[in-house]
Amino acid sequence: MPIRVAIFGSTGSIGTQTLEVIRWHPGKFQVAILTAQQNADLLIEQALAFRPGIVVIGAEACYAYVRDALQPWNIRVLAGKTGLEEAAATDCYDIILTAIVGFAGLTSTLIAAGLKKNIALANKESLVVAGDLLTKTASENKVNILPVDSEHSAIYQCLQGENWKDISRVIVTASGGPFRGKKVPELIGVTSRDALRHPNWRMGAKISIDSASLMNKGLELIEARWLFDLSPSQLEVVVHHQSIVHSMVEFVDGSIKAQLGIPDMKLPIQYALAYPQRTAGKIAKLDIMQSFRWDFSPPDLDTFRNLALAKQALHTGGNVPCVLNAANEVAVENFLQGRIGFLEMSDIVEKTMIKIPFKDSLSLEEYIACDEEARRVAGSLI
Ligand code: NAD
Ligand code: MG
Repeated sequence: MPIRVAIFGSTGSIGTQTLEVIRWHPGKFQVAILTAQQNADLLIEQALAFRPGIVVIGAEACYAYVRDALQPWNIRVLAGKTGLEEAAATDCYDIILTAIVGFAGLTSTLIAAGLKKNIALANKESLVVAGDLLTKTASENKVNILPVDSEHSAIYQCLQGENWKDISRVIVTASGGPFRGKKVPELIGVTSRDALRHPNWRMGAKISIDSASLMNKGLELIEARWLFDLSPSQLEVVVHHQSIVHSMVEFVDGSIKAQLGIPDMKLPIQYALAYPQRTAGKIAKLDIMQSFRWDFSPPDLDTFRNLALAKQALHTGGNVPCVLNAANEVAVENFLQGRIGFLEMSDIVEKTMIKIPFKDSLSLEEYIACDEEARRVAGSLI
């Protein structure tokens, strides 16, 4: 029987690469659900090619357009946030690949976990915001959370056959993004165009900006804390600009394991979908003779303050990572629109973190309220 895959966020960078991986393995996977926010034409094209049972279009204004296009093919079309939740609550899939960007991916991920569906997790923000709730729901329902993020896939692969209690440190590698080595004065005038030009990865706009500001690495520390049940002090970041070593695990005896490969998200996507099997794909192999030089250096926390702020959120816990994430989403959106400068993003995140009172043990409804409040505060600072 093919594995039935629900792809939430199928029109984005991760979503389209997931469909490419599925195309490589006819008969192994079957697309059960596809969702998109705005791009109705691509969603229709994907639906006609993969014939899922359900399609969700986030933008309600596009509902009739998508429904009319897919009606002859007996594909159920849903719309909006409630459509996403309704689709996540169906029993037509075995694994959800969460490729929605931002806080918007949280509720459907939690619904899937509650229904004992395995999770291939690209949407790191859901773990950043509500890692306690999501990991608790997953463990109560005996759900595997299989990381799609390349660093976390590397850590997961290093941990195969190991006892997690024997981990002493996890070292998350960072490419350093397009502004690696730059200092504050050189970052004052950079534009979103500069920031979107990542040297090693082609990704969606939000994660590209997060990579340039190192917020992405901060979010990944919080993601790793929850995925691997680590204490904040066990997590470190090292800059490795070649993006060949995808992360490392140091064990109590001092031995370090690393996972290597060329930078291609299709590898972690395929690993998560096929787990616990490995399958031959079409991913280029690393020519180890060509890539003989790998550099490692500590991150510059004074220039890239977002990473320092995310570390602070990691150590404080409670609602602080949720506040950090919401303020960052607002800041990134405004930077992309050209309304604020690159460095101002950190000011907005920091001020929002100061303004919102600490709270612990939040319910989903409280996380949603906290996210809204942090967005309001961050918005008022712009
Ligand atoms: P993207 O912007 O390319 O795609 C996002 C997808 O989510 C699209 O299908 C879009 O229609 C949908 N979407 C956007 N806003 C939505 C909303 N409010 N409600 C419902 N759907 C919405 O993003 P991406 O680069 O594919 O990243 C997706 C997730 O994967 C992010 O959480 C990102 O951090 C994570 N991730 C991405 C990469 C990468 O290489 N792109 C690597 C690691 C992790
Ligand atoms: Mg990553």
